[in-house]
This record gives sequence, structure tokens and C-alpha cells, in this order.
Amino acid sequence: MNLADCSSHSATARLLHFGSPGAIYLRRFVGSLHVGRCGSNPTHVKTLRLRSNPPKTLTVTAAMASEAEVAASAKIIDGKMVAKEIRDEITTEVSRMKDAIGVVPGLAVMLIGERKDSATYVRNKKKACESVGINSFEVRLPEDSAETEVLKFISDFNDDPAVHGILVQLPLPKHMNEQNILNAVSIEKDVDGFHPLNIGRLAMRGREPSFVPCTPKGCIELLHRYGFQIKGKKAVVIGRSNIVGMPAALLLQREDATVTIVHSRTQNPEQIVKEADIVISAVGQPDMVRGTWLKPGAVVIDVGINPVEVRRLPLVFFIFHDQARKVVSAITPVPGGVGPMTIAMLLSNTLSSAKRIHNFQ
Ligand code: NAP
Repeated sequence: MNLADCSSHSATARLLHFGSPGAIYLRRFVGSLHVGRCGSNPTHVKTLRLRSNPPKTLTVTAAMASEAEVAASAKIIDGKMVAKEIRDEITTEVSRMKDAIGVVPGLAVMLIGERKDSATYVRNKKKACESVGINSFEVRLPEDSAETEVLKFISDFNDDPAVHGILVQLPLPKHMNEQNILNAVSIEKDVDGFHPLNIGRLAMRGREPSFVPCTPKGCIELLHRYGFQIKGKKAVVIGRSNIVGMPAALLLQREDATVTIVHSRTQNPEQIVKEADIVISAVGQPDMVRGTWLKPGAVVIDVGINPVEVRRLPLVFFIFHDQARKVVSAITPVPGGVGPMTIAMLLSNTLSSAKRIHNFQ
């Protein structure tokens, strides 16, 4: 049995509380038991201005540029920079909350199985929590764990007052029922936003989800912080998964864009994409979207990812960036685009949850 301290911030480090305060939570890795202890411009127009202090936003003050204006090269939507701004804002709020009511937001992350990419994501989420002062609670279970075991951890986290957000890293081992597991997370702590009630509310007019899934929320936040108009624009989302494409389309619709979804059975996708002012691409196929598919002056969010462990490729873009940059007005890079925003939104959702639970404004 090992004692592991995964916090680099002694001020925020704490024993993992499980169920009742003071209880030590056992983190079981494959083949052994561990006691865990964790710490607690860009744009299509020349008039884009960065106002870095305060408010920290980028503002577009004119309409879409002409084709000639944008032909030179697209501006880069700097997700890394925006995510850093958001993390700084969260750090301030976490500290204010701790000082005012003595509560530190807590995020529980569950990893089941041995996927290296999932382990990397979990490690990054834990580090991100530490960097803003949020407590992290980690559960690792072996691939062959029973579903009931996972459900028991979720139930305990649901009842644990030190935990304000619960995240089950997907994908789950094949023998587990994803629906059962995601449904078990209390909607009050569903910081991933995957509970059907939260997704259902997202889809319904006049209803407010407690949480919005982090990757699509990060895409929309980038558009907002850069001042790109969404209302009235034609938007195309490529991909319709429950975790990225579908909620991205719902969010764009909520912002009064006219939204079309392209998926693997769509006929003539290039014609549809070519009409879009805004493109969010969430399809796991590298370089699928060519420059010729894109409307001059479009704003493009590429939910590409660095899948070194998965595909043995250095990077995967879903957009053919070399071509796209000659056509569009603004585009997210990979890496440094949507990826950092996903984690920033997870931290933001966890903070919001803690504030809501403790009625802290
Ligand atoms: P997913 O569940 O595999 O969904 C992929 C979607 O792409 C599906 O809706 C699929 O359509 C569609 N698709 C596949 N081939 C297509 C084609 N030729 N033309 C049009 N659509 C096609 O993946 P996901 O979870 O949404 O994630 C999408 C990608 O984003 C993944 O590669 C993932 O690694 C990445 N990602 C990145 C981040 C980040 O933070 N940067 C976060 C999450 C995911 P059907 O529905 O018809 O099958």
C-alpha cells in the first residue's frame, strides 16, 4: 500500500475525503492498493482589438471581411491564451470563495481501465485542478471491475459534501453500460454535462441545463471571447456525437445561429460546409475538410486532438490547415485551440457547481 501525494501545492493538499470528513479514500490501481492524497485578430477584420486588462476579451468591431482581405492568411484563435485567462479568473474566484465561506471546490475523476490516452487526460485534469486551487479526488479501477463497483463510487461521491463535480472518463470498458453509469451521476454534480436531463434541458427552449458539456462549451466560449457574432449566422457542425457534435449544434442554435449537422451519411458535405460562416469540426478523420470546402471569411473551430498514444501520429487536424488558412478568416490551431478550453470549462463547471451548492454569488 502506497501513500501518494499528487499535489504540488501544499496549501491545497489534503487527504481524500470519502463519505465522511477524515475518512481516507482507497485508490485501487491494477494489482495494488494505493491511498490517494491529492490537492485539494484573430479575426476576419483588421479592427480586432485585444483588451487584456479588464475585461479580458477580444472584440471584433466590424463585419466579416471581404474575400480579398482574408485571402492572405487566417488569424489564429489562441485557445491556450484564452484558457489561461479563464483559469486565472477561476483561481481568483476559488480563493475568494475559500476566504469568504471556507469552501474549496472539489472534483472527483474516475478512470476505469488502462487506456494511456485516458490516463493522460485524467492526469491533465488533476494538474489543472491543482493549478487553480480546486481539490481533486481520483479513483482508478482496473479494466475488469464490475459496473456495480463503479456505481458505488459514484453514489458515494454524490453524497460527499467535499465533491462538487464528478467526471467519469470515457470511453468505459466494453462490458460496462455507459448509460447506467452516466445516469448515476447526480445532475447537481454532472460537470461533464452528459446526464440525459442536462442534455435534454440543453435541447429545450426555456430550460436551463445545470451544466453544458465542456468541449462544445469551450468552442462557443472561444467564439464569444473573440467577439465573433453567432446570431443569424449559418453554422455547420461536422460530427453528431453525444459529447461534442450534438451539444455543439444545440449551443449554436441557442445562440440563434442557423445550424446544419454533417455526419458520416451526409450527401455532398462539401456543399453544405461551403455555405457556413462558422464551422465546428468534430470528426475523428484527419484532414477531412479541405480548403475548397470552406467559405472565404468563415470562422473555423477544429476540435482536433493530439492522439499520439492512440494513432501514432504526431497530430491530427480535422481541417486541412495549410489550405484552410488561405481561405478562412480565423481558425483554431491544434494543439492550443479547443483542447485547453475543454479543461478550462471543466474547472469552470466545477466552480459553478460549488457556488450553486453553497449558494455563493
Ligand atoms: P465520435 O463519437 O467518434 O464521433 C465522430 C463523429 O464524426 C460522428 O458523428 C460521425 O458520424 C462523424 N463522422 C465520421 N466520419 C465522418 C465523415 N466522413 N463525414 C462526416 N462525419 C463523419 O467522436 P467525438 O467524441 O465526437 O470526438 C470527435 C473527435 O474530437 C475525436 O477525434 C476526439 O478525439 C476529438 N475530441 C477532442 C476534444 C478536445 O478537447 N480537443 C474533446 C473531445 C473530442 P456518425 O454519427 O454518422 O457516425
